[in-house]
Amino acid sequence: MPRPYIVLTPQALSIMLRTMGVPFLDIKRQIEPLKKEIMMAIEEVIDGGAFILGKQVQELEEAIAKLIGATGAVGVSSGSDALLVSLMALGVKGNQSVITTPFTFFATAGAIARLGATPIFVDIEPDTFNISPEKALEAVRKDTVGFLPVHLFGHMADLKPILDFAKQKNLFVVEDSAQSILSESPLGFASTIGTMGIFSFFPTKNLGGFGDGGMVVTMDNDLREHVRILRNHGAKPKYHHLYVGGNFRLDTLHAGILLVLLPRLKEWTEKRRGIAKRYVELFEQTGLCEKGLVTLPCERPGFRHVYNQFVIRARRRDELCSFLREKGIGFAIYYPEPLHLQPCFSYLGYKEGDFPEAERACKEVIALPIFPELTKTEQEEVVGRVKDFYNQ
Ligand SMILES: *Cc1c(COP(=O)(O)O)cnc(C)c1O
Repeated sequence: MPRPYIVLTPQALSIMLRTMGVPFLDIKRQIEPLKKEIMMAIEEVIDGGAFILGKQVQELEEAIAKLIGATGAVGVSSGSDALLVSLMALGVKGNQSVITTPFTFFATAGAIARLGATPIFVDIEPDTFNISPEKALEAVRKDTVGFLPVHLFGHMADLKPILDFAKQKNLFVVEDSAQSILSESPLGFASTIGTMGIFSFFPTKNLGGFGDGGMVVTMDNDLREHVRILRNHGAKPKYHHLYVGGNFRLDTLHAGILLVLLPRLKEWTEKRRGIAKRYVELFEQTGLCEKGLVTLPCERPGFRHVYNQFVIRARRRDELCSFLREKGIGFAIYYPEPLHLQPCFSYLGYKEGDFPEAERACKEVIALPIFPELTKTEQEEVVGRVKDFYNQ
């Protein structure tokens, strides 16, 4: 018996795709076309046999420094360790305090606390979610040795006032650029304007590797050398320990893989920016922004957002989350709890209400899917579902 002929119209196809949902992140789409090249890079590392601090590590350090116009960089084991080893090189210790933001990934404040120093939190700016420079300066105490601002979600913090003050008072500024490689401000690229800066190669970051990895950037040759020594248990030469460091090394294998990905970073960043632009257009068509139901991320004049995350504020956020989950739309909450209210920091004595903007952000934010390979149809589906939620 002949089967009935099924014609798949574009409309039918689009409905079919729609019922499949949208992933929050699909790393495979990025890796698949590069698999051969990556396998070759892995093979090269295997054949080279130098698994610890092989030549690929130095090549990656040089390539990243060149990309952002820095004089040098040091590959390390993770973004978290990059923060820790930077603060170690700057001599951060007990009886000192470092000013940072309560609205970030834990590692930022964790690095300060791990060295026995006191994290001093200050509130954020509601439009960029980044540390408020005015509040940061107001919070400076006698024991304050520096600032640890974060360039959150891909948009740089306004560091001008902080940098001016720090220079005058001889304090350091370490830029946590884990989410902001290639992001720009009027003063320059992320991780090139402070005393030191860090990147993370965690798989969800804009330059994500196949495991943990990170980078420390500084224009200060002495600090860079210090980090290099600390990365290897503080030894120079081998078995002669100048400092108590740690094993903070970046694997040759990871560096080799990242060297394949790095040349694509600019193009991927452009794609992220294109996707963000389309989100803005799609959301503007829904009328949700005018009604104050949804607030879109901002890009300040002179700044270049790299959209590691596309984070909106949404009314009835938790109900929206349940709705999206039901419809198979990926999302994430960065971050559900501010750092000043975390149990491990209760000894610092903060309480609810101390940083109203950070606390409000935790209740309102939702990150929507954004990755270079996200399709237009998928984006329409995401925005369509958000619209469905508010119109039901
Ligand atoms: C990811 C991240 C880190 C830590 O990087 P890891 O490589 O995961 O250790 C630090 N700070 C911020 C803001 C991050 O997003």
